[in-house]
Amino acid sequence: MKRKDLDWENIGFSYHKTEKRYVANYREGKWDEGLLTEDANVVINECAGILQYCQEIFEGLKVYTTCDGSIVAFRPDQNAKRMISSAQGLEMPPFPEERFLDALDQVVRANAAWVPPYGSGATLYIRPYMFASSSVIGVKPAEEYQFRMFCTPVGPYFKGGVRPLVLCVGDYDRAAPHGTGHLKAGLNYAMSIHAGAQAHRNGYDENMFLDAATRTYVEETGGANFLFVTKDQEIVIPKSASILPSITRQSLIQVARDYLDLKVTERPVTLSELSDFAECGLCGTAAVISPVGKVVDHGKEIIFSENKNGMGPVIQKLYDTLTGMQQGNLKAPEGWIRHIM
Ligand SMILES: *Cc1c(COP(=O)(O)O)cnc(C)c1O
Repeated sequence: MKRKDLDWENIGFSYHKTEKRYVANYREGKWDEGLLTEDANVVINECAGILQYCQEIFEGLKVYTTCDGSIVAFRPDQNAKRMISSAQGLEMPPFPEERFLDALDQVVRANAAWVPPYGSGATLYIRPYMFASSSVIGVKPAEEYQFRMFCTPVGPYFKGGVRPLVLCVGDYDRAAPHGTGHLKAGLNYAMSIHAGAQAHRNGYDENMFLDAATRTYVEETGGANFLFVTKDQEIVIPKSASILPSITRQSLIQVARDYLDLKVTERPVTLSELSDFAECGLCGTAAVISPVGKVVDHGKEIIFSENKNGMGPVIQKLYDTLTGMQQGNLKAPEGWIRHIM
Protein backbone atom coordinates (compact mmCIF):
# COMPACT_ATOMS: atom_id res chain seq x y z
CA MET A 1 0.00 0.00 0.00
CA LYS A 2 1.45 3.33 -1.06
CA ARG A 3 0.31 6.35 0.92
CA LYS A 4 -1.28 9.22 -1.05
CA ASP A 5 1.07 12.06 -1.77
CA LEU A 6 -0.77 14.90 0.00
CA ASP A 7 0.59 17.95 1.77
CA TRP A 8 -0.73 16.53 5.07
CA GLU A 9 0.01 19.62 7.17
CA ASN A 10 -2.00 21.87 4.85
CA ILE A 11 -5.10 19.91 3.86
CA GLY A 12 -7.31 21.72 6.39
CA PHE A 13 -10.73 20.47 7.46
CA SER A 14 -12.56 19.79 4.21
CA TYR A 15 -13.99 16.83 2.33
CA HIS A 16 -11.68 14.78 0.14
CA LYS A 17 -13.34 11.98 -1.79
CA THR A 18 -11.59 8.74 -0.86
CA GLU A 19 -11.83 5.32 -2.58
CA LYS A 20 -14.47 3.38 -0.67
CA ARG A 21 -17.35 3.95 1.72
CA TYR A 22 -19.62 1.51 3.57
CA VAL A 23 -23.39 1.33 2.97
CA ALA A 24 -26.08 -0.76 4.68
CA ASN A 25 -29.83 -0.53 4.15
CA TYR A 26 -32.65 -1.19 6.60
CA ARG A 27 -35.72 -2.65 4.90
CA GLU A 28 -38.65 -4.78 6.06
CA GLY A 29 -37.53 -4.60 9.65
CA LYS A 30 -33.86 -5.61 9.23
CA TRP A 31 -30.42 -4.43 8.19
CA ASP A 32 -28.98 -6.00 5.03
CA GLU A 33 -25.40 -7.33 4.92
CA GLY A 34 -23.84 -4.02 3.90
CA LEU A 35 -20.97 -3.49 1.48
CA LEU A 36 -18.19 -1.16 0.39
CA THR A 37 -18.89 0.97 -2.67
CA GLU A 38 -17.02 3.48 -4.79
CA ASP A 39 -20.20 5.50 -5.33
CA ALA A 40 -20.02 8.64 -3.18
CA ASN A 41 -23.49 9.84 -4.21
CA VAL A 42 -26.72 9.07 -2.39
CA VAL A 43 -29.84 8.75 -4.52
CA ILE A 44 -33.13 8.93 -2.62
CA ASN A 45 -36.75 9.76 -3.35
CA GLU A 46 -37.79 13.43 -3.24
CA CYS A 47 -40.08 12.64 -0.31
CA ALA A 48 -37.49 10.74 1.78
CA GLY A 49 -37.86 11.23 5.55
CA ILE A 50 -34.47 12.89 5.84
CA LEU A 51 -35.40 15.55 3.29
CA GLN A 52 -38.81 16.34 4.77
CA TYR A 53 -38.52 15.88 8.54
CA CYS A 54 -34.79 15.70 9.19
CA GLN A 55 -34.61 12.16 10.61
CA GLU A 56 -30.81 11.86 10.66
CA ILE A 57 -28.04 11.09 13.17
CA PHE A 58 -24.27 10.98 12.83
CA GLU A 59 -20.95 10.36 14.53
CA GLY A 60 -17.39 11.60 14.13
CA LEU A 61 -14.14 9.90 15.10
CA LYS A 62 -10.52 9.81 14.11
CA VAL A 63 -8.07 7.17 12.93
CA TYR A 64 -4.31 7.75 13.20
CA THR A 65 -0.94 6.22 12.59
CA THR A 66 0.80 5.60 15.94
CA CYS A 67 4.53 5.84 16.68
CA ASP A 68 5.01 2.13 15.86
CA GLY A 69 3.24 2.45 12.49
CA SER A 70 -0.07 0.84 13.52
CA ILE A 71 -3.34 2.29 12.32
CA VAL A 72 -5.75 2.70 15.22
CA ALA A 73 -9.07 4.30 16.21
CA PHE A 74 -9.77 5.98 19.56
CA ARG A 75 -12.70 4.46 21.50
CA PRO A 76 -14.91 3.70 18.47
CA ASP A 77 -17.10 1.47 20.65
CA GLN A 78 -18.22 4.66 22.42
CA ASN A 79 -19.26 6.21 19.10
CA ALA A 80 -21.19 3.02 18.23
CA LYS A 81 -23.00 3.11 21.59
CA ARG A 82 -23.78 6.82 21.34
CA MET A 83 -25.16 6.31 17.84
CA ILE A 84 -27.49 3.63 19.21
CA SER A 85 -28.90 6.03 21.80
CA SER A 86 -29.22 8.77 19.16
CA ALA A 87 -31.15 6.31 16.97
CA GLN A 88 -33.50 5.44 19.83
CA GLY A 89 -34.12 9.13 20.48
CA LEU A 90 -35.24 9.73 16.88
CA GLU A 91 -37.21 6.45 16.48
CA MET A 92 -34.63 4.99 14.09
CA PRO A 93 -33.41 1.36 14.03
CA PRO A 94 -30.11 1.05 15.96
CA PHE A 95 -27.11 -0.12 13.94
CA PRO A 96 -25.47 -2.86 16.07
CA GLU A 97 -22.18 -2.01 17.80
CA GLU A 98 -20.26 -4.99 16.40
CA ARG A 99 -21.40 -4.13 12.87
CA PHE A 100 -20.36 -0.50 13.36
CA LEU A 101 -16.86 -1.65 14.40
CA ASP A 102 -16.65 -4.08 11.48
CA ALA A 103 -17.70 -1.31 9.03
CA LEU A 104 -14.97 0.91 10.53
CA ASP A 105 -12.30 -1.76 9.97
CA GLN A 106 -13.50 -2.27 6.38
CA VAL A 107 -13.55 1.45 5.53
CA VAL A 108 -10.12 2.10 7.03
CA ARG A 109 -8.49 -0.95 5.38
CA ALA A 110 -9.99 -0.06 1.99
CA ASN A 111 -8.70 3.52 2.28
CA ALA A 112 -5.40 2.80 4.05
CA ALA A 113 -3.52 4.95 1.54
CA TRP A 114 -5.38 7.97 2.95
CA VAL A 115 -4.29 7.53 6.57
CA PRO A 116 -1.87 10.39 7.32
CA PRO A 117 1.61 9.51 8.59
CA TYR A 118 2.66 9.57 12.25
CA GLY A 119 3.76 12.98 13.42
CA SER A 120 2.01 14.97 10.66
CA GLY A 121 -0.76 16.06 13.02
CA ALA A 122 -3.24 15.08 10.29
CA THR A 123 -5.74 12.25 10.84
CA LEU A 124 -8.31 10.23 8.94
CA TYR A 125 -11.71 11.54 10.00
CA ILE A 126 -14.50 8.95 9.96
CA ARG A 127 -18.09 10.05 9.46
CA PRO A 128 -20.75 7.41 10.21
CA TYR A 129 -24.33 8.56 9.67
CA MET A 130 -27.84 7.23 9.22
CA PHE A 131 -30.93 8.73 7.65
CA ALA A 132 -34.55 8.00 6.77
CA SER A 133 -34.42 6.92 3.11
CA SER A 134 -38.04 6.02 2.36
CA SER A 135 -40.85 8.47 1.66
CA VAL A 136 -42.95 10.03 4.40
CA ILE A 137 -45.47 12.81 3.93
CA GLY A 138 -47.53 12.42 7.11
CA VAL A 139 -45.22 12.98 10.07
CA LYS A 140 -44.03 9.62 11.39
CA PRO A 141 -40.86 7.52 11.50
CA ALA A 142 -39.84 6.26 8.04
CA GLU A 143 -39.85 2.53 7.28
CA GLU A 144 -36.46 2.40 5.53
CA TYR A 145 -33.05 3.76 6.57
CA GLN A 146 -29.55 3.91 5.20
CA PHE A 147 -26.39 3.69 7.31
CA ARG A 148 -23.21 4.99 5.70
CA MET A 149 -19.63 5.49 6.77
CA PHE A 150 -17.08 7.44 4.77
CA CYS A 151 -13.67 8.84 5.61
CA THR A 152 -11.72 11.95 4.65
CA PRO A 153 -8.24 13.02 5.69
CA VAL A 154 -8.12 16.20 7.79
CA GLY A 155 -5.18 18.43 8.64
CA PRO A 156 -3.80 19.31 12.08
CA TYR A 157 -6.20 21.39 14.17
CA PHE A 158 -3.55 23.61 15.77
CA LYS A 159 -1.68 24.46 12.57
CA GLY A 160 0.61 27.43 13.12
CA GLY A 161 0.35 27.14 16.92
CA VAL A 162 -2.35 27.25 19.55
CA ARG A 163 -4.41 30.42 19.59
CA PRO A 164 -6.88 30.95 22.46
CA LEU A 165 -10.44 31.19 21.17
CA VAL A 166 -12.73 34.18 21.71
CA LEU A 167 -16.40 33.28 22.23
CA CYS A 168 -19.56 35.29 22.52
CA VAL A 169 -22.79 34.68 24.38
CA GLY A 170 -25.43 35.01 21.68
CA ASP A 171 -29.17 35.49 21.77
CA TYR A 172 -30.18 32.09 20.41
CA ASP A 173 -30.59 28.70 22.05
CA ARG A 174 -29.30 25.38 20.77
CA ALA A 175 -31.49 22.85 22.55
CA ALA A 176 -34.67 22.86 24.61
CA PRO A 177 -34.92 21.25 28.06
CA HIS A 178 -36.32 17.72 27.52
CA GLY A 179 -35.51 18.10 23.79
CA THR A 180 -32.85 16.58 21.53
CA GLY A 181 -29.67 18.34 22.69
CA HIS A 182 -28.18 15.11 24.05
CA LEU A 183 -28.53 13.30 20.70
CA LYS A 184 -25.93 13.58 17.95
CA ALA A 185 -28.37 14.62 15.25
CA GLY A 186 -28.00 16.99 12.32
CA LEU A 187 -31.12 18.83 13.48
CA ASN A 188 -29.20 20.24 16.50
CA TYR A 189 -26.61 21.60 14.10
CA ALA A 190 -29.32 23.22 11.98
CA MET A 191 -30.41 24.97 15.20
CA SER A 192 -26.86 26.25 15.80
CA ILE A 193 -25.93 27.46 12.30
CA HIS A 194 -27.50 30.91 12.48
CA ALA A 195 -26.03 31.62 15.94
CA GLY A 196 -22.61 30.37 14.80
CA ALA A 197 -22.63 32.39 11.57
CA GLN A 198 -23.73 35.49 13.48
CA ALA A 199 -20.84 34.97 15.95
CA HIS A 200 -18.38 34.67 13.04
CA ARG A 201 -19.77 37.79 11.35
CA ASN A 202 -19.17 39.66 14.60
CA GLY A 203 -15.56 38.44 14.75
CA TYR A 204 -15.91 35.61 17.31
CA ASP A 205 -14.68 32.06 16.93
CA GLU A 206 -17.75 30.39 18.41
CA ASN A 207 -21.04 30.96 20.15
CA MET A 208 -21.48 29.88 23.78
CA PHE A 209 -24.96 28.46 24.32
CA LEU A 210 -26.77 28.84 27.63
CA ASP A 211 -29.60 26.73 29.03
CA ALA A 212 -32.73 27.64 27.09
CA ALA A 213 -35.09 27.71 30.10
CA THR A 214 -33.33 30.29 32.29
CA ARG A 215 -30.30 31.47 30.26
CA THR A 216 -28.17 31.42 33.39
CA TYR A 217 -26.24 28.14 33.01
CA VAL A 218 -23.47 27.35 30.54
CA GLU A 219 -24.21 24.50 28.11
CA GLU A 220 -21.76 24.10 25.19
CA THR A 221 -20.87 25.49 21.76
CA GLY A 222 -22.45 24.10 18.58
CA GLY A 223 -20.04 21.17 18.51
CA ALA A 224 -17.84 21.00 21.61
CA ASN A 225 -18.24 20.68 25.41
CA PHE A 226 -16.76 22.99 28.05
CA LEU A 227 -14.24 22.12 30.73
CA PHE A 228 -13.21 24.71 33.35
CA VAL A 229 -10.27 24.78 35.73
CA THR A 230 -10.40 26.65 39.06
CA LYS A 231 -7.49 28.62 40.52
CA ASP A 232 -6.82 25.56 42.73
CA GLN A 233 -6.54 23.30 39.67
CA GLU A 234 -9.87 21.58 40.22
CA ILE A 235 -11.73 20.63 37.05
CA VAL A 236 -15.38 21.65 36.74
CA ILE A 237 -17.62 20.21 34.02
CA PRO A 238 -21.03 21.77 33.28
CA LYS A 239 -23.86 19.32 33.91
CA SER A 240 -27.12 19.47 31.96
CA ALA A 241 -29.39 16.95 30.27
CA SER A 242 -29.31 18.94 27.01
CA ILE A 243 -25.52 18.82 26.55
CA LEU A 244 -24.26 16.25 24.02
CA PRO A 245 -22.05 13.82 25.99
CA SER A 246 -18.61 14.24 24.40
CA ILE A 247 -16.42 11.14 24.34
CA THR A 248 -13.34 13.38 24.44
CA ARG A 249 -14.64 15.12 27.56
CA GLN A 250 -15.41 11.79 29.22
CA SER A 251 -11.89 10.56 28.39
CA LEU A 252 -10.30 13.78 29.72
CA ILE A 253 -12.23 13.37 33.00
CA GLN A 254 -10.78 9.88 33.39
CA VAL A 255 -7.27 11.10 32.50
CA ALA A 256 -7.57 13.93 35.05
CA ARG A 257 -8.74 11.64 37.86
CA ASP A 258 -6.67 8.52 37.26
CA TYR A 259 -3.47 9.83 35.67
CA LEU A 260 -3.09 13.44 36.83
CA ASP A 261 -4.65 13.04 40.28
CA LEU A 262 -6.91 16.07 39.81
CA LYS A 263 -10.30 16.58 41.40
CA VAL A 264 -13.18 16.65 38.90
CA THR A 265 -16.67 17.93 39.69
CA GLU A 266 -19.67 17.77 37.36
CA ARG A 267 -22.30 20.32 38.29
CA PRO A 268 -24.39 23.10 36.76
CA VAL A 269 -22.12 26.09 36.02
CA THR A 270 -23.56 29.60 35.87
CA LEU A 271 -22.47 32.25 33.40
CA SER A 272 -21.96 34.65 36.33
CA GLU A 273 -19.29 32.45 37.97
CA LEU A 274 -17.09 32.10 34.86
CA SER A 275 -14.79 34.92 35.94
CA ASP A 276 -13.73 32.74 38.92
CA PHE A 277 -12.08 30.16 36.64
CA ALA A 278 -8.43 30.26 35.59
CA GLU A 279 -8.70 28.11 32.45
CA CYS A 280 -11.45 27.19 30.01
CA GLY A 281 -11.26 24.57 27.28
CA LEU A 282 -13.50 23.24 24.52
CA CYS A 283 -13.47 19.45 24.15
CA GLY A 284 -14.25 17.44 21.05
CA THR A 285 -12.77 14.99 18.58
CA ALA A 286 -11.53 17.72 16.22
CA ALA A 287 -9.11 19.49 18.61
CA VAL A 288 -9.15 17.19 21.68
CA ILE A 289 -9.09 20.39 23.78
CA SER A 290 -8.70 23.98 22.64
CA PRO A 291 -8.13 26.84 25.07
CA VAL A 292 -10.66 29.67 25.38
CA GLY A 293 -9.03 33.00 26.18
CA LYS A 294 -12.12 35.13 26.49
CA VAL A 295 -15.93 35.04 26.52
CA VAL A 296 -17.79 38.23 25.63
CA ASP A 297 -21.29 38.57 27.07
CA HIS A 298 -22.97 41.58 25.45
CA GLY A 299 -19.93 43.81 25.91
CA LYS A 300 -18.82 42.34 29.26
CA GLU A 301 -15.49 40.50 28.92
CA ILE A 302 -14.67 37.37 30.92
CA ILE A 303 -10.95 36.56 30.70
CA PHE A 304 -9.32 33.22 31.49
CA SER A 305 -5.95 34.54 32.61
CA GLU A 306 -4.01 31.25 32.38
CA ASN A 307 -4.97 30.85 28.72
CA LYS A 308 -3.66 34.25 27.65
CA ASN A 309 -0.93 32.89 25.42
CA GLY A 310 -2.28 29.44 24.60
CA MET A 311 -3.10 26.46 26.79
CA GLY A 312 -3.04 26.99 30.54
CA PRO A 313 -0.99 24.48 32.58
CA VAL A 314 -3.83 22.06 33.39
CA ILE A 315 -5.32 22.05 29.89
CA GLN A 316 -1.82 21.51 28.49
CA LYS A 317 -1.28 18.48 30.77
CA LEU A 318 -4.65 17.01 29.82
CA TYR A 319 -3.92 17.55 26.13
CA ASP A 320 -0.43 16.06 26.29
CA THR A 321 -1.59 12.99 28.20
CA LEU A 322 -4.58 12.18 26.01
CA THR A 323 -2.79 12.82 22.69
CA GLY A 324 0.18 10.80 24.01
CA MET A 325 -2.18 7.86 24.52
CA GLN A 326 -3.72 8.33 21.08
CA GLN A 327 -0.34 8.45 19.36
CA GLY A 328 0.91 5.37 21.18
CA ASN A 329 3.58 7.13 23.25
CA LEU A 330 1.71 6.59 26.55
CA LYS A 331 -0.18 3.51 27.66
CA ALA A 332 -3.93 4.09 27.36
CA PRO A 333 -6.57 2.49 29.61
CA GLU A 334 -7.71 -0.98 28.55
CA GLY A 335 -10.00 -0.87 25.49
CA TRP A 336 -9.38 2.73 24.43
CA ILE A 337 -7.32 1.98 21.33
CA ARG A 338 -8.72 -0.25 18.57
CA HIS A 339 -5.95 -1.67 16.43
CA ILE A 340 -7.18 -1.80 12.80
CA MET A 341 -4.03 -2.66 10.87
C1 LIG B 1 -19.89 15.56 18.62
C2 LIG B 1 -20.21 16.68 19.55
C3 LIG B 1 -19.36 17.05 20.60
C4 LIG B 1 -18.01 16.42 20.83
O1 LIG B 1 -18.08 15.05 21.09
P1 LIG B 1 -16.81 14.11 20.88
O2 LIG B 1 -17.35 12.75 21.11
O3 LIG B 1 -15.82 14.49 21.91
O4 LIG B 1 -16.31 14.36 19.50
C5 LIG B 1 -19.79 18.06 21.44
N1 LIG B 1 -20.95 18.71 21.25
C6 LIG B 1 -21.78 18.41 20.24
C7 LIG B 1 -23.04 19.16 20.07
C8 LIG B 1 -21.44 17.37 19.35
O5 LIG B 1 -22.28 17.08 18.34
